[in-house]
Amino acid sequence: MALIDEILATNENFCANLPEEIKAYEHEDHHESKLPKKKLAILTCMDTRLIGLLEPAMGIKRGDAKIIKTVGNCVTGYFDTAVKSLMVAIYELGVMEIAVVGHAECGMQKTTSESLKKAMLERGISPDAIKLVEKDLIEWAEGFKDPEQNVRDVVKLLKDDPLIPKDIKVHGLLIHPRTGKLTLVSKDE
Ligand code: ZN
Repeated sequence: MALIDEILATNENFCANLPEEIKAYEHEDHHESKLPKKKLAILTCMDTRLIGLLEPAMGIKRGDAKIIKTVGNCVTGYFDTAVKSLMVAIYELGVMEIAVVGHAECGMQKTTSESLKKAMLERGISPDAIKLVEKDLIEWAEGFKDPEQNVRDVVKLLKDDPLIPKDIKVHGLLIHPRTGKLTLVSKDE
């Protein structure tokens, strides 16, 4: 069975047998329920091992926070997509604190502009298309030194971002993708 068909079949079964804790949300207020109860936004990595780990490890339940995921929890500019998500979280949804959560063993450490370029060429991407993004590609891929430094860089970028108000707290954390152990990198008092 193709993966997408498997997903659809699973969903049919899921909806027919909704778990009690999900049923409880069926009649919740739509406006209220989209506001993050903890007024928190988490910017973290798309790493598969963080699924179902990061939330309980941080005490985050459904409805508590906005979670934004990018590769390596990278932010590449003061108005990039992650910042746009944070802007909506702050200005429309009442977020007051941001936690940037990187993790050990992040794939971005091994990803280089050369490895990406080589793989793209092998998959038939035209060299002209690669040329268009080459400068950004190098800046972004080579800019990621290690997960902790990256968290520091992203926290600084967000603190200095002219579109984010100064009363928003931005904390830096690292999570271990196998044990869930959190390490504080920087705390915004
Ligand atoms: Zn990662």
